[in-house]
Amino acid sequence: MKSVCIGIDLGGTFIKFCMLDQASRAGGVLQLPTPVDADGIVATMAAGAKQAIAATSLSREQVRGVGVGSPGPLDLDAGMVIDSPNIPGLRNFPLRDRVAEAIGLPVTLENDANAAAYGEFVCGAGRGTRDMVMLTLGTGVGGGIIHQGRIVHGAHGIGGELGHMIVQSIDGRPCGCGQRGCLEQYASAGSLARHAADRLRRETPAGVLRTAFEAGERIEAHDIHAAHIAGDAFATELWEELAYYLATGCISICRAFDPERIVLAGGMTRAGDDLLNPVRRHFEALHWRLTPIRTALAVASLGNDAGAVGAAGVAWRTARNENHP
Ligand SMILES: [Zn+2]
Repeated sequence: MKSVCIGIDLGGTFIKFCMLDQASRAGGVLQLPTPVDADGIVATMAAGAKQAIAATSLSREQVRGVGVGSPGPLDLDAGMVIDSPNIPGLRNFPLRDRVAEAIGLPVTLENDANAAAYGEFVCGAGRGTRDMVMLTLGTGVGGGIIHQGRIVHGAHGIGGELGHMIVQSIDGRPCGCGQRGCLEQYASAGSLARHAADRLRRETPAGVLRTAFEAGERIEAHDIHAAHIAGDAFATELWEELAYYLATGCISICRAFDPERIVLAGGMTRAGDDLLNPVRRHFEALHWRLTPIRTALAVASLGNDAGAVGAAGVAWRTARNENHP
């Protein structure tokens, strides 16, 4: 008999739902707008789960459990959201138990970036590996580490915050986390746009970015990508710098974890080979010579569904009575 787990990904704008069956086939994706308050979020999660079940021919008994991926920091043992900058109502909120009560099924809570990495691991670009690391390049840089099939949480539940690995230790750019020189200040879409604007305020590089900047336009990461592809020298310099820092981050990941694959995800990866090729080039040039390169770099394949798929994968681990991944 077919059985499924439901995955729920709590985002700042949408709550996304999906089903994952026992053979790791995902489907039944739907999304609902995220309410602003905690009670509304719990009610929407219950309603979405009900809707997801109703859209299939499955009975409730065939649903083995629910996984919830949430922004953090979280207390995974207690099932609590400690803080959530984008959803203030969730501060110190017992999300796991409240959702379990509302849906009437066991719930497993996981950090959203870890859930997305686990989703790619279970049925995306990391499928078939046992050791995989994912970097999500968005406003910041999210990270997730899968070691021997399990999510690495660390001793205090804050392992895998790879966007805050220090890649520039002298005169590093300040990061919102309080450190300086964090990877996310060099390799995120947000940092690329900020750094471009910063340089355009101080310097006068020729090209389309300067023209747009002087016309008062807001320069985004995709504008820099487009200008780079069109042959703009300043844009290429910015793009290459991002690829360089990303490659150094990947090498540090290799030295610490020796993964089979590093999966790059997030909006920046829409650039495809335009991003992957320079990152690979710097990765090969900067990699140590003590052993051959055996870690492959790949682009994620599940897009925005990875978090919900991974949350369902996490629920499966609980349902199979394996330890929390
Ligand atoms: Zn940081």
